[in-house]
Amino acid sequence: MKVTKISHIAIAGDNPEQTRVLYEDILGLKAEGSEAVRQEGVTTHFYQAGESSLELLEPLSAETPVGKFLEKRGPGLHHIALEVEGLDDYVQKLKDAGIVLLSDAPTVGAHDMRIIFIHPKSAGGVLIELCEKS
Ligand code: ZN
Repeated sequence: MKVTKISHIAIAGDNPEQTRVLYEDILGLKAEGSEAVRQEGVTTHFYQAGESSLELLEPLSAETPVGKFLEKRGPGLHHIALEVEGLDDYVQKLKDAGIVLLSDAPTVGAHDMRIIFIHPKSAGGVLIELCEKS
């Protein structure tokens, strides 16, 4: 049971081409592909940045959580993801400590990772994702 690295930093946005030009053409990050994650209502665009990635979250529609996030706050930092070993043990430990999670159990996110989110009100105002390779 440990955190192994910052998996990715996710940024909500509505202009994937502008982001691609900055990340890929100018900064030279390697595009790791785009994937629609219907359950979360987003298309994810991953760019490898050393051991971690930048993830652009593009909403599938205005009614999705990220669509509402964009409407309310505009583009910007959405969440920080920590890759862990022992996700289920972490979930139990978080629940025991009274930490608020966005779901009762891990779900499957992009790249078939098992994921769960810690509510910003339990995490200093930042949405934190824990993810584990499945
Ligand atoms: Zn994420």
